[in-house]
Amino acid sequence: MPTMKAAVFVEPGKIVLDQKPIPQVGPGDALIKVTTTTICGTDVHILKGEYPVAPGRIVGHEPVGVIEALGPAVTSYVVGQRVIAGAITPCGQCHACLDGHQAQCGGKPIGGWRFGNTIDGCQAEYVLVPNAMANLAPVPDGLSDEQVLMCPDIMSTGFGGAESGGIKIGDSVAVFAQGPIGLCATAGAKLKGATRIIVVDGLPERLEMARRLGADVPIDFRKADPIAEIMRLTEGRGVDVAIEALGTQQTFESCLRVLKAGGVLSSLGVYSGKLSLPLDAIAAGLGDHKIVTTLCPGGKERMRRLMNVVAAGRVDLKPLVTHRFKLDQIEQAYDLFAHQRDGVLKIAITP
Ligand SMILES: [Zn+2]
Ligand SMILES: [Zn+2]
Repeated sequence: MPTMKAAVFVEPGKIVLDQKPIPQVGPGDALIKVTTTTICGTDVHILKGEYPVAPGRIVGHEPVGVIEALGPAVTSYVVGQRVIAGAITPCGQCHACLDGHQAQCGGKPIGGWRFGNTIDGCQAEYVLVPNAMANLAPVPDGLSDEQVLMCPDIMSTGFGGAESGGIKIGDSVAVFAQGPIGLCATAGAKLKGATRIIVVDGLPERLEMARRLGADVPIDFRKADPIAEIMRLTEGRGVDVAIEALGTQQTFESCLRVLKAGGVLSSLGVYSGKLSLPLDAIAAGLGDHKIVTTLCPGGKERMRRLMNVVAAGRVDLKPLVTHRFKLDQIEQAYDLFAHQRDGVLKIAITP
């Protein structure tokens, strides 16, 4: 059986480069030869054992590649075509998908997230894409791998936070945390028409990147109290939409405390343990606040739209690629990314 190199989860604390069989193509699948992929914060949760996946699972959920083989039921694609697939791979046919909740495919929470979770992922030479006709999105001519590398996950997720927040032209928006997803939420808020985007982080290079992507006011939480500062900037009203992009009680609560009555808290973080709602921050439940959560939207139409945004020059996320490694060096790449050394934002991995 022919084999390929792949990053494999072994046990908490251990993701290693190993040899795995090249997947067999089923009727509705596509085999993609991966040309570029990247590591996500979620992969670090898997590495640390904070999100359980089966030992032996190939990790990674952000594939850019070329069609190597197609199942007999897959039409309207050709071998050799450059494609991406979303981190979330909905079936396109179940109740949840047809009801507009593709990320929750199958009707279970997070059901659409399969790559590197419930099926093998794409930090490998090849990846099998299930339900290929619902998921393969051809890359427009002229766009490089790195230009579309953020579409499968962080761009879709970050923009999703801005979209779920229902941002309107002229809105004031606060985004708490400017890691890769928070930065994409900032870019999404700008595209949605927010005219005052206030971003909070503790790393100057991230605040600088946020400015490049559309932030108007950066706040370094180590130098100023973000809640007082945001309330001052909005003349005591609070923001229309607050986006949470970290997944902690503190950032979630801060979002509530800077939100206007009737505002929307759009949550993107992955929380652990318990999340509590301080009643004074939500007017004892009578402030007309909305809290919405979003898992990365997937599927080929979502990917087509995001690549359109890139092709139209509306957003350039390539500067988020701060480091480049070969698949052979994936263990080093994980070490750098997990420890957030050297100003790392995203790492392009090429097999
Ligand atoms: Zn991810
Ligand atoms: Zn489905």
